[in-house]
Amino acid sequence: MNIFVAENITKQYSGQKALDNVSISVESGSVFGLLGPNGAGKSTLIRIINQIIAPDNGTLFFEGEKLQTKHIAQMGYLPEERGLYKKMKVGEQALYLAQLKGLSKKEATQRLNFWFDKFEIGHWWNKRVEELSKGMQQKVQFVTTVLHQPKLLIFDEPFSGFDPINAGLLKNEILELRKQGATIIFSTHNMESVEELCDHIVLINKSKKILDGKISDIKEQYKKNIFRIVFQSTPDFEDSFFASYRILSKTKSEQDTEITLQLEKDSDATFLLETLLHKVRIISFNEVLPCVNDIFVEKVTSTI
Ligand code: ADP
Repeated sequence: MNIFVAENITKQYSGQKALDNVSISVESGSVFGLLGPNGAGKSTLIRIINQIIAPDNGTLFFEGEKLQTKHIAQMGYLPEERGLYKKMKVGEQALYLAQLKGLSKKEATQRLNFWFDKFEIGHWWNKRVEELSKGMQQKVQFVTTVLHQPKLLIFDEPFSGFDPINAGLLKNEILELRKQGATIIFSTHNMESVEELCDHIVLINKSKKILDGKISDIKEQYKKNIFRIVFQSTPDFEDSFFASYRILSKTKSEQDTEITLQLEKDSDATFLLETLLHKVRIISFNEVLPCVNDIFVEKVTSTI
């Protein structure tokens, strides 16, 4: 089932098209990555989903109903431009924001204690926000985004400004939230996080959607008949056997040779594997799937 659907969304800012007929369907319980270069239209789409701005055209649905103000309570939004009130104390502010989301003071306090313990930030409770570093403020804002246990979480560039340790912490939390049944949409430039987290991606370039699918399907679609073979061999054999193949890389250890090669477009790897099986001891034989970063670059540069 889809928790969120956007159909044919168009948005223009004074002559500048930010979104051109973009549609997305977000499956309930999935992690959905919104990718694209700077200026592609990601933040615009995220703001439309959060009802901060309205599209010029198109329709949005939350759990099958036309998107309305009441749905905001079931969403949690971490904007790219983070902002907490600088002069207010951390705990006081977190409590205030939680109550705005409809939690009672008691419930909010209990949940905040849980999260502050989990992130080991309890000692920040009475500090003013301005006393915290940017990364620390982001942590607090993340907590305030997820505290009311929304069904749909929307993070705009959640990893920007986080050091690798805190980025790792955030990744774990995203996976944990999904395990508990939440659906997560996030925009990012960080392709590593996409590989680790996303079930489904949409790539937007210059206001248009240019790729949409499950990561596993997209990788299958963009694979290039590249194989990595590790085997025990002798130099004479390697040089003659692989002479007619397109070798992309070759490394040797004392015992093994690892070769990455690309077969002709329609050529079948079975023949190569069968031939090799009779000649050498094969340790592994794997197809190399493209990484999201390569697909991103290929798609974006080919649609310039
Ligand atoms: P992304 O988040 O992918 O970097 P944005 O959605 O922020 O992209 O921007 C998409 C396009 O819309 C860009 O060309 C940007 O300059 C333009 N844009 C975004 N917000 C505004 C605005 N408030 N006024 C005018 N143009 C805007």
